[in-house]
Amino acid sequence: MADCIFCKILNKELPSEVVYEDDQVIVIKDINPMAPIHLLVITKRHIASLNEVLPKDEGLMGHILMVGQKLAREFGIAESGYRVVTNIGKDGGQAVPHLHFHILGGAALGTKLA
Ligand code: 5GP
Ligand code: ZN
Repeated sequence: MADCIFCKILNKELPSEVVYEDDQVIVIKDINPMAPIHLLVITKRHIASLNEVLPKDEGLMGHILMVGQKLAREFGIAESGYRVVTNIGKDGGQAVPHLHFHILGGAALGTKLA
């Protein structure tokens, strides 16, 4: 997708701090962190949001969570706890229409979700 920020990051047209990469996902540090640890697990394929995920992507969805679990351990927040979030659409507060999961931790997070 030509105008997609995350596709540009994936193509290395835009810089980012990559902390993990495999054939299905890339994980980068969020440019505007909302917690001491704030990572983004981004699918390599351009999928607009969870709404556009297909039944054939079930494995990919599980992989994203397993990568999140691994990174949480590596970043030392597995025991203290963390949050995994994907925003969908306007009311979900999705700013970048390319599927990504936020991994947030390193401090007690607020409980107010809306
Ligand atoms: P959304 O609101 O779509 O769920 O989250 C988009 C996230 O991407 C935001 O937390 C925002 O700070 C982050 N972001 C937007 N542009 C960039 C960028 O160019 N680089 C990085 N590393 N993060 C970005
Ligand atoms: Zn994209």
